[in-house]
Amino acid sequence: KYKQPYTVKEKIHEMERYAKTNNIPIIEVESIKFIMKYIKLNNVKSVLEIGSAIGYSAILMANASPDVEITTIEKDEKRYREAVKNINKCGLDKRVDVVYNDALEVNLAGHSYDLIFIDAAKAQYQKFFEKFKINLNENGIIVCDNLNFHNLNINEVSRGTRQLLKKIERFKEFLENNDEFATTIYNVGDGISVSKR
Ligand code: SAH
Ligand code: MG
Repeated sequence: KYKQPYTVKEKIHEMERYAKTNNIPIIEVESIKFIMKYIKLNNVKSVLEIGSAIGYSAILMANASPDVEITTIEKDEKRYREAVKNINKCGLDKRVDVVYNDALEVNLAGHSYDLIFIDAAKAQYQKFFEKFKINLNENGIIVCDNLNFHNLNINEVSRGTRQLLKKIERFKEFLENNDEFATTIYNVGDGISVSKR
């Protein structure tokens, strides 16, 4: 039987349901709206995303402007495949390139981006930040998600989560004390930082 092509809106709702059922941590609505607005207002042409999951945030960022191209990196094979499938279904495969690899292994020499969105393993944010800052265009920004980490109370979580919360706190200190970048942390969604040279 002939299948109707998806509209992006339908696909987005389907992905939200899939993420919920499969426990995939996709970005909160207010945070992605914030990023999409930034893309539109600042005429962003190129985005690097660390952590694609199933392609949800990448598809929405691509939808913010027909002029934006996105490279997004995912190390989990199942999620990578799901992201590619979703991006194809939205007809965005020409503008969204999904790279299947550990972001810390990827070589992006010679590529530069107007916006770098870090949304992968929270314990490694500083590593990602320091690795990819050379790929940021002069007036570009680096955005990091989940800096509030669901507002968990450090005294009421498991040891592993406590370590993670401490790492996020250390990353925030790294941002605050950074001589090269000025950072604002917004209490939007799960907490996002915006860093500018
Ligand atoms: N940006 C997505 C959500 C990403 S969830 C959205 O909002 O729709 C975080 C993802 O980062 C997970 O799928 C995880 O597999 C991936 N990840 C974690 N560490 C990574 C690494 N070092 N390199 C690439 N991907 C990584
Ligand atoms: Mg996130």
